[in-house]
Amino acid sequence: MDIQLYDNWERRLRPFTPLRNDWVGLYCCGPTVYDYAHIGNLRTYLFEDILRRTLEWNGHTVRHVINITDVGHLVSDGDDGEDKMEKGSRKAGESAWQIADRFTAAFKNDLNSLNILEPAIWCKATDHIAEQIDFISCIEKNGYTYRTSDGIYFDTSKQDDYGYLARIKRDAIKAGSRVELGEKRNATDFALWKFSPDNEQRQMEWDSPWGRGFPGWHIECSAMSAKYLTPWFDIHCGGEDHISIHHSNEIAQNQACHGTRLANFWMHGYFLQIDSGKMSKSSGDFLRLQTLLDQHIDPLAYRYLCLTAHYRSQMQFSFEALQSAQTALQRLRETYHAWPAGGSVSSAYQEKFTAFVNEDLNVPRALALVWEMLKSELSDADKKASITEFDRIFGLGLASWVPQALEVPAEVQALAEQRQAARAAKNWAEADRLRAELHALGFEVEDKAGSMQIKRL
Ligand code: AMP
Ligand code: ZN
Repeated sequence: MDIQLYDNWERRLRPFTPLRNDWVGLYCCGPTVYDYAHIGNLRTYLFEDILRRTLEWNGHTVRHVINITDVGHLVSDGDDGEDKMEKGSRKAGESAWQIADRFTAAFKNDLNSLNILEPAIWCKATDHIAEQIDFISCIEKNGYTYRTSDGIYFDTSKQDDYGYLARIKRDAIKAGSRVELGEKRNATDFALWKFSPDNEQRQMEWDSPWGRGFPGWHIECSAMSAKYLTPWFDIHCGGEDHISIHHSNEIAQNQACHGTRLANFWMHGYFLQIDSGKMSKSSGDFLRLQTLLDQHIDPLAYRYLCLTAHYRSQMQFSFEALQSAQTALQRLRETYHAWPAGGSVSSAYQEKFTAFVNEDLNVPRALALVWEMLKSELSDADKKASITEFDRIFGLGLASWVPQALEVPAEVQALAEQRQAARAAKNWAEADRLRAELHALGFEVEDKAGSMQIKRL
């Protein structure tokens, strides 16, 4: 069956045909490791994981690459300001190398908790300085660069279709631009190599044909994707914010050096919004996966929540929605485990399921199908066999989930008993207060004909 994917280069759904027979190349822009990932970032990696699983579901072998940005991403997302790593290092009181290691480990841990499959290749920008220098030399040789007092820049006016991915109208930018150009020739030009400032000792710097310094942010993805996937491969992903700058610049670099627009499909995960704004690392006010764990929320409930929204729509985060996702997931797990083994996959449901996921990853619809199937005439054993199969894409780990005997801490037991006593005395205000205290500890009490049952929220 055909897979249709939405390609942001052509801005339409296109049937996916691999460029090679043996593997599909998938490159996903990774984190800048100056801080923890927030759950918005993680939504993008979840979308990419679903994409990979869908390709595998259809029989493809995927060569999945995620990079780690540990140098060169400047605070402004442009070419000014401090390197995020150097700034993060000062804030944490550790070296830039130490924070890179620490936040990379934390990131991998988050992916693991969310059942995101390990990529075939992890690659760090600082391990590929020579490849980046070679790539810049190639761009320079082809005549696309110029030098300023602070670095080597890409001259975007040399490419007629610069910014096509974002449908950037360069003339409009020029006319309406109030951007302080400094020594840049065009507002959209960007740094390929930056020189170490004279007045500052950088922790991360290297020699190059142009002088001591460090690579710009965009070149690492062109250089590493070319190394691991060749300069023309199947699918490149990232968050929607990358369309206008980072990915437009990656494409410009590849066109200048290799004459390719890098990837056949450009796919983007749309943002997680919180309280009407986007969640961002620089605002300093963001939710980590650990924040959810601290509130007794299972990381896979967050995965479930993300499955309920299509990757091409922005998703509004709320704790209420997350709580409902946790309840639904728990119901699914318990139902699944109560069913007997030994059934067979329903071909009718499998066909519908495949049609949904192959229609630009319509996982929300595929998940709704599961709930429809639950209510259907299918035997419980066949339902179990079918869901086990579908979980290869959902990644909820249903088969490996083990019901846990609930451990009730003494403090919770005591509060629940006090609440029962308050109810018996018809002291409803006190009973409500105690219920809220139990909630804060992650528990709730169900009252059943005079007795009570303590449950995890
Ligand atoms: P960063 O570590 O900031 O470079 O971002 C890592 C990935 O998360 C990139 O693909 C971003 O586009 C993506 N991203 C950033 N903010 C959000 C958000 N609020 N929702 C979804 N994805 C995001
Ligand atoms: Zn990138």
